[in-house]
Formats: sequence, structure tokens, C-alpha cells
Amino acid sequence: MYPHLLAPLDLGFTQLRNRVLMGSMHTGLEEQRGELTKLAAFYEARAKGGVGLIVTGGFAPNFRGRLHPFSSQFSTASHAQKHKVVTDAVHKHGGKIALQILHAGRYAMHPLSQSASATRAPIAKFTPFKMCERQIKGTIKDFANSAHLAQSAGYDGVEVMGSEGYLINQFICQRTNTRNDKWGGSYQNRIRLPLEIVKAIRKKVGQEFIIIFRLSMLDLVEQGSTFDEVIELAKGLEQTGVSLINTGIGWHEARIPTIATQVPRGAFSWVTEKVKPHLSIPVITCNRINTPEVAEDILSQGHADMVSMARPLLADADFVNKAASQQSKLINTCIGCNQACLDNVFKGKQASCLVNPQACNETEMVISNAVTKKRVAVIGAGPAGLACATIAAQRGHQVDLIEKSDRIGGQFRLAMQIPGKEEFRETIRYFANRIEQTGVNLMLDTEATFDVIKDYDQVVMASGVTPRKLQLEGIDTPEKVVDYQTLIRDKSPLGQNVAIIGAGGIGVDVASMITEPETHTLADWLEDWGIDQTMSGEGGLQPIGESVADKQVWLFQRRAGSVGKGPGKTTGWIHRATLQKRGVNLCGGVSYQKISADGLHIKRDNKEELIQADNIIICAGQESVRPFEEQWQQLGDKLHIIGGADVAGELDAVRAIRQGTEVAMKL
Ligand code: NAP
Ligand code: SF4
Repeated sequence: MYPHLLAPLDLGFTQLRNRVLMGSMHTGLEEQRGELTKLAAFYEARAKGGVGLIVTGGFAPNFRGRLHPFSSQFSTASHAQKHKVVTDAVHKHGGKIALQILHAGRYAMHPLSQSASATRAPIAKFTPFKMCERQIKGTIKDFANSAHLAQSAGYDGVEVMGSEGYLINQFICQRTNTRNDKWGGSYQNRIRLPLEIVKAIRKKVGQEFIIIFRLSMLDLVEQGSTFDEVIELAKGLEQTGVSLINTGIGWHEARIPTIATQVPRGAFSWVTEKVKPHLSIPVITCNRINTPEVAEDILSQGHADMVSMARPLLADADFVNKAASQQSKLINTCIGCNQACLDNVFKGKQASCLVNPQACNETEMVISNAVTKKRVAVIGAGPAGLACATIAAQRGHQVDLIEKSDRIGGQFRLAMQIPGKEEFRETIRYFANRIEQTGVNLMLDTEATFDVIKDYDQVVMASGVTPRKLQLEGIDTPEKVVDYQTLIRDKSPLGQNVAIIGAGGIGVDVASMITEPETHTLADWLEDWGIDQTMSGEGGLQPIGESVADKQVWLFQRRAGSVGKGPGKTTGWIHRATLQKRGVNLCGGVSYQKISADGLHIKRDNKEELIQADNIIICAGQESVRPFEEQWQQLGDKLHIIGGADVAGELDAVRAIRQGTEVAMKL
């Protein structure tokens, strides 16, 4: 079904069983104290699931190259010894694994950071020390030493992290390299470091060891590399002994989204396609490839020889095996939200996955068969109820999933209608197929009552939320005021001037939805963010396209401070930048006075103002839906409350699906 994706790749001295590379992603498991059992179990599940080649999260070759003072390093025999459990776990299932060697350079979050020059990154707290000749030579040796140790630990190869704005990238680009010795100045001098590193590694590890180089093909920052320079380095790397070239897109400090859900699927494979004809070694492409269809399409068009996916394999460890066995409709697709993976990592927490809470918890969250088969009622087919019902049924329980409306999905059904959040549709598709696979009895258009559910052995209340009603004069004016749920569901018509009350995740989504341009092709999207598909200039940048909306929109919150970021740690800036580009008025520190025929009356800086809005959209959070709550006590400890029915205040799909899964595992 996916002949290109599932075809083996011959590297001469070794063969990869298919074209799927699990891209490097830091999960937090790398820093586990003692045995690396959790990290081993995480990769073992992906190897068992059929991945061709796994690349670990980044390990520093020396102390100064660490991202954080306590983050992972791989530079001693004891490190190598500790990693054997990881490589053995992967090899047991016929997989292959490479260790990524990453020197953070000026992105390091500690005061000993080093770089080509002493300039601080806009996203870093510390100004790095400029490396002297001795330190550069020492670092080259350290990379080679790590690779050699990785070989002794049973790794099949290493990936040298040369992109995303880390140390090697900092040497390559004029933006961060202002040296005038043999490591700076001309391009030939600036690329000396990556070439010397690869040369030193190859010398240490011999010919029969995979070396992947993650090459920044599109820096997306000013004073980044030009296309000709990228090709010059790629050819140099090939000659120096690299086995595979992986694509890197965008420095971490770039203000252009590269992996968030708003980024169209496969949005950057054209970059790899441009580089590939200049090389004879295989080339890997990446970014927002999340289904076997997208991957197959890219490979069959010849854009690349392999595809890299990281988050999609967090979302479903069995991605490859499901694709290979005609079960792709059962793939739990990554929706690109970052909410449980990157947002967690950037907050210093362990990664997991919104749609798959078992990710990175493989040793604790084990789904076993139920000892006693029970009759279980799950009320509500939103994300929490769906997760709970399908896992309970998988365990052998007899599950009735009772849903008041005529379809499943709950809040995800609203989310998928927001432009750029269409991926939420995939989660609903996944659960619809899981209902069929696990034998859940789905009862749509059915109102749960106490009399109906009181005789079940277990009752799970996943009845969700309803938009909060505000106490405000004029709020009951349906021709003028609409809550977000009605607006999205009924596609209510709006006038030219619109005020939004509430700038949380949903207020931001609604503002983005109502200002979305009508057509939005990949070319439009690239132009909107100033990405030059001809790659003729430095860093692949061009002036940002004009995209001011034809509506006048105000987004309000009562809290003072930054407005429009929404809740995502790694995606907030994208939302805010999008709204700013579209001319949305972002206003904090307001109080709402009343709604009249003229519009919304607010108070700001102690002054009363009239916002002449034709429509006012209420996005002021939610309240729990708790049917027959007065009788819940009678259900005793057979009642379990999950998702929005449990806590509406911080309604959060990560918690909802995790709670649903955890409850189902205990029933
Ligand atoms: P929210 O993030 O809690 O925001 C509610 C907004 O309503 C806030 O801006 C709050 O701001 C305002 N508000 C609260 N009570 C109010 C009142 N009585 N009168 C007027 N304004 C009031 O809730 P949400 O936007 O409904 O989102 C719900 C959840 O969905 C989020 O927590 C998030 O987990 C999830 N979500 C996530 C994303 C994402 O991109 N990651 C997107 C959408 C939703 P002030 O109190 O300052 O006025
Ligand atoms: Fe994908 Fe979201 Fe899961 Fe991260 S948390 S792997 S982005 S679905």
C-alpha cells in the first residue's frame, strides 16, 4: 500500500528496513537517574512498531555543550555502558538506532556556554564565551569521542546536529560568526568546523557506521546561509564520509512556525527536493509529515529518500506496522498541537502526548486485560469519554458509550473547524475506528438518566462543558451576542466590526478563524510568513506578505498584560504574531460595562469607551455539565468523573484524555 515508504534502504554496509526515520526529540527521559529503563522502553516500543532507524534526543559531547546544567551528556565509558540497555532493546526488534550528538553553543541555558562569537541569542539568558582555537579543536575531538563511545554502546550510528541554530550552525552563518581566523570570515572557513567534526568521527568509527548530518537547509533567520552555500556544505559533507543528510528547517530563534499544527502538512519537503539532485547519498526530509499518505506522496515524488517523523511516533508507536498491515485508519495521528510534548519539555517537564498519554510512560501505563468483566457506562463521547470507553472495552469490559448529540468528538468537533486545527478531525477518525475495533456500544442521540445508569457496575461521567454565561446587561441579545460554541457550530453570520470577550485559547482561535483569508494554499502560507521558495537570498527569507483582515476585530481580556498568546508555551507567539499581522486589536486590562444596540461598552484606564461592534462573541471559559448531579452520591465509588465534567476551569484535552485512560486502566 505504501511501496516507497516501506521499501528498504541500502546504505552499502547496512540496510534499513524501511524509509521511516524517527527524528530526534528530547523527551526528558534522557536525564533519568540510574538505569535508562524508561528511555529503553520508549524506543523499544517504536522499534517493535516497525521504525527503520531511530535517532535519540540530543546528547552533548562535553559539559559546556549541554543545553541545561543537568541535561544529558555522552562522553565517558560509563555513559556508553548505561546506554547498552537502550540499544539492546531496539535491536531485539530488528530496529536500528543512532545517537544524536548536540552541542548547544549559545543556546545553552548556563553561564559556561560557548560559541563562534560572544553574541547572545535572543532566546537565551547567557552571553556565550567566544571559543579559542584550543577549545574548537577540543570540541572536534569530543564529538569524535562521543561517536566512538556510541559505537561501543551498540549504536548503529550517530547524527551530528548541525541545524536549528545550535553550535555548528552558529559557526556556519555570518549571523553568529564574526571571527577573522581560520574558523570565520569566508564561507570555506565557517564550514571548517562541521567538516572537521565529520572527518574526525569517520576516522574514529571506520567505514561501517552510520553518520547522519542534520544540515540546516533553510535557516529562516537574517544572515543565514544562501542556497549555494547549503549545496557547497552538503557536497563537502558527502565527500567527508557522511552516510545520510537530514533536513533542518529554521533556527529556534526564527519567528516563523515550522512544526506547529498551523504549518501545512509536508510544508518543507520542497527544500529537500531542491538539495537532493546535488548529492548522491540519501537525503531525509521532515516537518509536519504525520500520515503514511503524506510520507508516501513525498517519497513517490522523489523529494527525498527517507522521511523523518518524531511527534507522529510519540502519538503512535505502531505507526509503521499499522501502515504496513493495511490498518492505517487505526493510526493515532499527531495533531501537531505541541501541548504535551514540546510544551512540557520547554517547561522542564517530561514529554508525553496529548492523544497518547502512554508515550514516555511505557513502563507505568500498561494496559492489561480486566480480571472481572464489568458493565460500564461512559456518559459523553468527547475526548475523555472516547479514551475511557475504548480502553475499557479493549480490556474486555462491556461498554456502553452514551452521547446526547448525534455524533462523537465533543470539543474536538469545534476545534477541527478552526483554520489550522483541522488535524483534530484525525483524532475523531481514530476514535471512531477504535469504537468499532474494541466493540464499544455507541448510543448516539441518547440522554443518560439516573434510572438508566444506576444498574451499571461502573459509571464514568465525561459529560463535558458548556460555554460560561456572563452576567452583563444586554447579554441576551441573540441578534448581536453569540457564544463561541454556537458561532462555530452554526457558522453564525458576522458584521464588519466584531468584539471578542475572553482571550484564552478559544478567544484566540475564534479571532484567528474570523480573520482567516479565504484561500490559503501552501504558496500563500509561505508568502504570509516571508519564506522564499526560490531560496535566492540569505536564510531563505523574503518580505512578509500583506494579510490584514477585512474585518475590524477586537480581542479583550480583563487581565492586564500580553493578549493573544493562548495557552501554548511553544505556540503562543505564533498565535499572537498571526493576529497582529491581521490587524486584530489586542486589548488587556478592560472591564465590561454593558452591551447595547451601539456595541460593547468597556472601561479601560478608568475611561469609558464604546466599541462599535456589530457582534460580540463570548469566549469567557466554560462550566461543567453535570447531569442529575443531585443523585451522584447514590452511585458511591462506582462513579468516576473525568474531563470537563470534573474541572471546567482548566479544560484541557491533555488532562481529559489522560484521565480517561487512567480511569479505564483501573476499572
Ligand atoms: P481559558 O483559556 O480559561 O480563557 C477564558 C477567557 O475568558 C480568559 O481570557 C478570561 O480572561 C476570560 N474570562 C473568564 N471568566 C470571565 C468572566 N466571568 N467574564 C469575562 N471574561 C472571563 O478558556 P478557553 O479559552 O475557553 O479555553 C479552554 C481550554 O481549552 C484552555 O484552557 C486550553 O486548555 C484549551 N485550548 C487550548 C488551545 C491551544 O491552542 N493550546 C486552544 C483552545 C483551547 P480574563 O479573566 O482576563 O478576562
Ligand atoms: Fe503530536 Fe500533540 Fe502528541 Fe505532541 S502532544 S506528539 S504535537 S499530538
